[in-house]
Amino acid sequence: MKFKDIYKQQNNSAKNFPVISFEVFPPKDPGGNSLLIKELQNLMPYNPQVISVTYGAAGTGRENSINLVRLLKNNFDISIMPHFTCINASKYSVENYLNEISNMDIKNILALRGDIPNDENITNSDFQYANMLVEFIKSKSNLNIAVAGYPEGHIESENLETDIKNLKKKIEAGAEIIYTQLFFENSYFEKYLEKLRNAGINVPVIPGILPITGYNQLKKMTSLCKVTLPEALLNNLEKHKNSPDDIKKIGIEYAINQVNGLKKYNLSGFHFYILNKAFPTKTILEEVLKQN
Ligand code: FAD
Repeated sequence: MKFKDIYKQQNNSAKNFPVISFEVFPPKDPGGNSLLIKELQNLMPYNPQVISVTYGAAGTGRENSINLVRLLKNNFDISIMPHFTCINASKYSVENYLNEISNMDIKNILALRGDIPNDENITNSDFQYANMLVEFIKSKSNLNIAVAGYPEGHIESENLETDIKNLKKKIEAGAEIIYTQLFFENSYFEKYLEKLRNAGINVPVIPGILPITGYNQLKKMTSLCKVTLPEALLNNLEKHKNSPDDIKKIGIEYAINQVNGLKKYNLSGFHFYILNKAFPTKTILEEVLKQN
């Protein structure tokens, strides 16, 4: 099903809740894919409608990503959305990729520029920014296209306003939906939504929710992008940083409150960065659907 139809329903029919999507990444170990399928099976009772699959930076791991897309497509009767990054890609290789996924009956794609690699030669790239990729995909396929948005601004951007102007270029090039980077302060998302609407961006904006499951992992992730960790949350995590169980508990409780706090915006969906594990997201969904 294409985004247009998925998000038109506006709610998860079973529970009167917005569309639920999960983001996964290709596992590194050989047995990882079958474990991931089992994890995702545990989440199917919550009626997700999209599973998105990350793509290695600068085209690394292309095969792993596409293999996982194929596997998920064979195992789940819901929309599987590959991510694709163009920073090290030629038009020719993108066209090949689009043909490959179209042959798999993929309907939606998340079009990204990707992070600029430090140590690689990127002279091969025919694309400088994601809006160029969106335009190219639009001209070569019938895919529905999603793009990334950054409630606190992209890390390279001089300010949020400039970043929103650049986001608008992606929408004008044909993108139909925005999935956001993770954030922990709902007020950033609220202001972002308002700024997007004021800028004339009216497509669905789907908040990215990360259930915190590990202290070091969180530190690493937040160092790579512009994300504010509220002081109270940070202090609480620091206090319990040597107890993985407490960190998970804090992370799950925080995400439950975050999702509940976002309900008032009547959003079209919620995107969960599940980090290939069912338990945290399952616990969150159990709670937020109960409170719905
Ligand atoms: P762009 O939209 O091109 O923006 C990049 C920067 O350039 C921004 O600062 C923007 O303001 C500026 N800019 C954009 N267009 C223009 C223009 N026309 N002129 C001048 N400046 C411009 N990375 C991966 O490697 N693999 C993944 O699978 C992946 N999945 C992601 C999923 C989500 C939901 C999100 C939010 C991010 C994901 N990323 C992934 C990270 C993403 O690749 C990086 O954040 C990357 O640095 C930017 O990609 P983009 O598509 O947002 O780039």
